[in-house]
Amino acid sequence: MTASSCRVHIRWDNFRHNLLLLQEKGKTLMPVIKADAYGHGALRASEELSALGIDWAAIGTLEEGIGIRLHGYQGNIVSLLSRTPDGENIRLAHSHNIIPLIHSWDGLRAAAEALSALPDIQSFRFAVKMDTGMRRLGFRLEELEEVATFIASTPALSPCLLLSHFATADMPDEEEYTQTQAEIFQQGANILRHHFPELLCSLGNTAGLVSHTARSGDICRPGLAIYGYDPLFGTAGEGQCGPLLPVMEVTAPLVSVHPLHKGESLSYARTYTAESERLVGWVAIGYADGYKRNTAAGTCMTINGVRVPVIGRVTMQMTCVDLTDLPFTPKAGDMVHVLGGPGHAVSAQELADWWGTIPYEVICLLGKNSRA
Ligand SMILES: *Cc1c(COP(=O)(O)O)cnc(C)c1O
Repeated sequence: MTASSCRVHIRWDNFRHNLLLLQEKGKTLMPVIKADAYGHGALRASEELSALGIDWAAIGTLEEGIGIRLHGYQGNIVSLLSRTPDGENIRLAHSHNIIPLIHSWDGLRAAAEALSALPDIQSFRFAVKMDTGMRRLGFRLEELEEVATFIASTPALSPCLLLSHFATADMPDEEEYTQTQAEIFQQGANILRHHFPELLCSLGNTAGLVSHTARSGDICRPGLAIYGYDPLFGTAGEGQCGPLLPVMEVTAPLVSVHPLHKGESLSYARTYTAESERLVGWVAIGYADGYKRNTAAGTCMTINGVRVPVIGRVTMQMTCVDLTDLPFTPKAGDMVHVLGGPGHAVSAQELADWWGTIPYEVICLLGKNSRA
């Protein structure tokens, strides 16, 4: 059963273009395909990574990681959203060769304890998560010496990666904070590498990668840019990613086209009244499909590449557009582009501005329709 009338189309050619562009920055990439590749589909995304010879991928949950492993991805998989290790998820991670994060003493002790009951697992690969200023997950710098000693005393624990996340890499005004995070990370890396010389380091989301905050040896973790959007949009750093191409397109059909006479109002609460004769169309997408109800004046969709304004309240599965000024007359069944497409396409950045959010949320929300 499909719950939604709208369709998500993914331009994998553009996805490849964006990855190639980022590869030119000269860093090892660990593209982030968590949350079903920001709504684009993690399985297919992992195929594209394989085809480009990219042998690191970051996903969210262990289950997402297992999904891409079973789908055939052979590179390193890092699970960013790791639960406290127990025997079961350690065994799963180990058997599917997935690298979970351990980010707390609870996690470290639980892993050591679980491993003591799993004598067949002699080397459990994991990533140490360090908190350098995000204050979300991770060990602080001052804990790392003790962390290293603890890990070294548990032979089955094999740290292969040190990882941290920037809080403000997409804000050029906060460059100092980002630099401080990078320095703290470097100190942490020195401590751990003293005990584990083979340890790799991963710092830098898209913004960290393109603004050169990440150091040359770091494995960078671009997310937003691989889907075609610039996290530095609207800042002094805009454009550093290069000419990205948007990957997601969303369409929905017109279900009704009819006149709205002068003086008539429309939709719930009658927020729109026609001041002249109008031709209106109802599009089969609404807030149940992630098309936000609270949208600013000026919100548009496109038909054959021409913009049409959204009018009246967005409803659960339908939204109204004003078709009056189109140079042609659409009919029920015609497709409307809610995001992307030909001509004067609506970008996720624009939708984000109209919805009071960020393009990340726009693509995650609309992308869910591909699984509906
Ligand atoms: C989501 C995420 C990224 C990717 O960030 P973008 O801003 O999309 O480039 C990188 N690292 C971690 C830990 C993340 O959670």
